[in-house]
Amino acid sequence: MIRTVTYNGNELSYELTLKNVKNINLRIKPNATVFVSANRGIPLKIIDEFVLSRADFITKALKNYKDKSEQVNKKYFNEDEIKDVILKLCKNIYPYFESRGIEHPKIKFRKMVSRWGSCNITKKVLTFNINLMYAPAGCIEYVVLHEFTHFLQPNHSSKFYEELEKICPDWKKWRKCLKEINLYENM
Ligand SMILES: [Zn+2]
Repeated sequence: MIRTVTYNGNELSYELTLKNVKNINLRIKPNATVFVSANRGIPLKIIDEFVLSRADFITKALKNYKDKSEQVNKKYFNEDEIKDVILKLCKNIYPYFESRGIEHPKIKFRKMVSRWGSCNITKKVLTFNINLMYAPAGCIEYVVLHEFTHFLQPNHSSKFYEELEKICPDWKKWRKCLKEINLYENM
């Protein structure tokens, strides 16, 4: 059941489940729902009071979730733009790989939630995630360079990173930046 308490003039709702737990447990789910489980014998009034006693913590936690999801999923490009940006990057990057004896791959786009790009070495296809529109330019360039580098080194071996470092010295920074983007929310 959903219950609402008033804290500092604001309504604070929480999802309550009564079950065989010892006391009262409170947690904030990843979708920013306040979830409370409590023993069936505990009066609702006591549970409300418990939630109110944690209201300060709850409000801060909810604000954090909101800030994070807004900041993380900032959209830099629309769908057409991101394809353009990636195609231009491929064009600029290719001469280096051509000089290393690599054939020009076919470039594909897909919406994916688990990876930013992939390289099919045998079919000579690079696939890029449309969701890169949520990533700043440096990250996009890193992904393009990363996938192209797989034509030189298929696996993520130390040799792969040696090759990547030559053309993308800041790869660690951009990889970290990509990890902060939440691929599962609002996409
Ligand atoms: Zn890779």
